[in-house]
Amino acid sequence: MPGRHTGDSKRYDQRGWQQVGNYTVVALPGDGIGPEITDVALKVLDRVVELVPGLDVTVDSHDAGAERWRSTGVAMPDETFDACESADAILMGAIGLPDARHPDGREVNGDVIFRLRFALDLFAGIRPVRSLPGVADTLAGGKPIDYVVVRENVEGLYASRTGGTNVRGEVATDTIVITANGTRKVSEIAFGLATKRGGRPLDGRKMVTCVDKANVLSSYAFFRSVFDQVADEHTDIERDHVYVDAMTAFQVQRPDHYDVVVAENMFGDIISDLAAATVGGLGLAASADVGYDHGMFQPAHGSAPDIAGRDLANPTAMVLSTAMLLDWLGERHDDKAALEAAAKIDAATLKVLAEGTTVTADLGGSASCTAMGDAIVAALDGQA
Ligand code: ATP
Repeated sequence: MPGRHTGDSKRYDQRGWQQVGNYTVVALPGDGIGPEITDVALKVLDRVVELVPGLDVTVDSHDAGAERWRSTGVAMPDETFDACESADAILMGAIGLPDARHPDGREVNGDVIFRLRFALDLFAGIRPVRSLPGVADTLAGGKPIDYVVVRENVEGLYASRTGGTNVRGEVATDTIVITANGTRKVSEIAFGLATKRGGRPLDGRKMVTCVDKANVLSSYAFFRSVFDQVADEHTDIERDHVYVDAMTAFQVQRPDHYDVVVAENMFGDIISDLAAATVGGLGLAASADVGYDHGMFQPAHGSAPDIAGRDLANPTAMVLSTAMLLDWLGERHDDKAALEAAAKIDAATLKVLAEGTTVTADLGGSASCTAMGDAIVAALDGQA
């Protein structure tokens, strides 16, 4: 049943009833392998829309990124930003190329990714980390892995981007920014996720782990104290604290101890890339950047220029990010069709991985990106 307009969503008919099942998604294929994996994701999205009654998605593709910056001088025109702002969700392939830089050395990808993150207040980076069927275990011991890293996305050390100082080429500084409000928001997202999940693989206990360096810097001690205030409000979920250096070891030695992990921006960036490596690599790592009003979904990897243009990229991270997009829309709009579509994509992708016959070279196979995408579409058809 559609919900009544309460001011927290944008799509309503003339009666003021929220319209579910009918969404506009802005696609930003971007650079390098971005267009190749986006083609696959959009094929998968098209097919799931055909298969799930009551779901309609209009895709509005825009050119943004390093190549566009090279040819026009602007990585993302304002009209593209406006389209992102008014869309129901954003699906991003990969933005940036290593040598596309501003004169001060900053990569051009920030003009797109950071602009969207900051202007749309996508304050939580969500990166699921789970063992996938058919994917060789990169860690000795084969412990089951199923946790989510929640990274604070708009504060922390990266808030200093473009704001650091360099004094006469002798002294350089960047300032970390931790606010009570920002830390509370991201901690609440982490506890909200823990409520819905099934707990950590080790013993099913629901737990949120705060990763910081509270023993060295007062900013991280503050992050922890605000996290603890939020934890006090969720007595049904356990809390845990781990210093970031220890965390990198624990992610390798005992990854089954984690359920939801929350961290400051830079620490979240580092531990989520490490996490991706423990479950088969960047080609499998989906991610979401979400706030209260907007959501952007993209694989955790970059544009991989070393394999771009050769139909070699693994499309899994991109396809699973598309499933996260539909899941987010489904939760946000209480839309069972979008939730069903997300589950279908997830199951189809896992089936192709488990069979292992049509997977890309990074997974030890010989399939092209297109062929793996077609196999996922076929697996979707097989569910019907
Ligand atoms: P960025 O700084 O833009 O995030 P990065 O330095 O993390 O980029 P990536 O572009 O993610 O680098 O690539 C890192 C390595 O992983 C490269 O060797 C690349 O080929 C490989 N890689 C990344 N994504 C994929 C993918 N989808 N399929 C196969 N290999 C990939």
